[in-house]
Amino acid sequence: MTPLVSSPEQYRKADFDVYRVREDFPILHREVYGKPLIYLDNAATTQKPRAVIEAIRRYYEETNANIHRGLHFLSERATEQYEAVRRKIQEFLGASESCEVVFTRGTTESINLVASSLGRLLLQPGDEVVLTTMEHHSNIVPWQLICSATGAKIRVVPINDCGELCLEDFERLLNPRTKIVALTHVSNALGTVNPVHQVVQMAKTVNATVVVDGAQAVSHLPVDVRQLGCDFYAFSGHKLFGPTGIGVLWGRAELLEAMPPYQGGGEMIRTVTFEESTWAKIPHKFEAGTPPIAEVIGLGAAVDYVLQVGYAAIGEHEAALLERATRALATIPGLRIIGNAREKAAVVSFVLEGVHPHDIGTILDRDGIAIRAGHHCAQPLMQRFGVAATARASFAFYNTFSEVDALAAGVEKVIEVFS
Ligand code: PLP
Repeated sequence: MTPLVSSPEQYRKADFDVYRVREDFPILHREVYGKPLIYLDNAATTQKPRAVIEAIRRYYEETNANIHRGLHFLSERATEQYEAVRRKIQEFLGASESCEVVFTRGTTESINLVASSLGRLLLQPGDEVVLTTMEHHSNIVPWQLICSATGAKIRVVPINDCGELCLEDFERLLNPRTKIVALTHVSNALGTVNPVHQVVQMAKTVNATVVVDGAQAVSHLPVDVRQLGCDFYAFSGHKLFGPTGIGVLWGRAELLEAMPPYQGGGEMIRTVTFEESTWAKIPHKFEAGTPPIAEVIGLGAAVDYVLQVGYAAIGEHEAALLERATRALATIPGLRIIGNAREKAAVVSFVLEGVHPHDIGTILDRDGIAIRAGHHCAQPLMQRFGVAATARASFAFYNTFSEVDALAAGVEKVIEVFS
């Protein structure tokens, strides 16, 4: 593609060339409204490299069959490929065993699974589930549902004005009734990277089970569940440059084994009579019905791709994007950045005096700049900051400095329109 700046050399590091990387993403070459696409909505979903698109195409052209059931060639090949991705995810997350990796439809289903099944196992009336103010609705509503079914209560860890967890308040909330702590690793609306390891250590003083929503983390930073010390970790394939319709729930084997099934159907049983059924071993107990096989294979290709780019290069490039975006936006009169945590992923949420975030989004869109405007499925967080909505630019490793500059110029234009 044609570089967006005349001299891209300055953005080339020895082992990372953003313009080379962009060549791998066909969609980044398209135009919208006659302008080059500037895609800054990566927290909503990420774009797919050719390697992922090709892996799915190849699967359908060469291997497509149902898994685990057939004794024929294609079914065995499809099963091998599907299970190989499970082992890949085990390594990707630093998990001890591949049976701890459950495939789901996405983070939302992973959290619903753990809330419903673990909740039924652990929660009694009066028990407490601790969440944080910055949770996505996907990590609030499933806990509300199980709390109303069991009589447990939700407690909430506050955050400071920078968008960081107040750990002293968290410590005060912990007590012998705290059975579950569920928190996001990286906030989708603020970019805050939470100190999960520290939170786990604190939660373990009262033997609470810790569930981590990793939806926004895996595209930005390497995750090692054993180092984090958590009990469950959830993420979505589509936010990791993979397909939609596939997600992961990692859980400690002993907890997954003790938990009741989440859904019933084929694949998850050992025996069935009309009187009763018995369950397959983990992880199959939690994978009822025909799974999203092609999507699992696409996810495997996405993980390979990300590891080949490398988290060191991703981290370094995204930190530079974040710094440039923060510097450029912070100087615009009337613009307030929401979320200034010390540990922050490449996400910038902001409000502009006298302009609704939807208007910012619409005007930028006409220049080919895709951002998100709204409550970002985090209404309690919006309330905390006294706003109904924000505009949010969220970056990935394929974004360039000139795209950041185009965003800042676009916001200046919005101000002109409204002045
Ligand atoms: N958690 C966080 C922090 C998110 O940002 C999102 C999606 O934006 C989700 C959970 C839900 O992910 P999905 O819609 O892929 O299930």
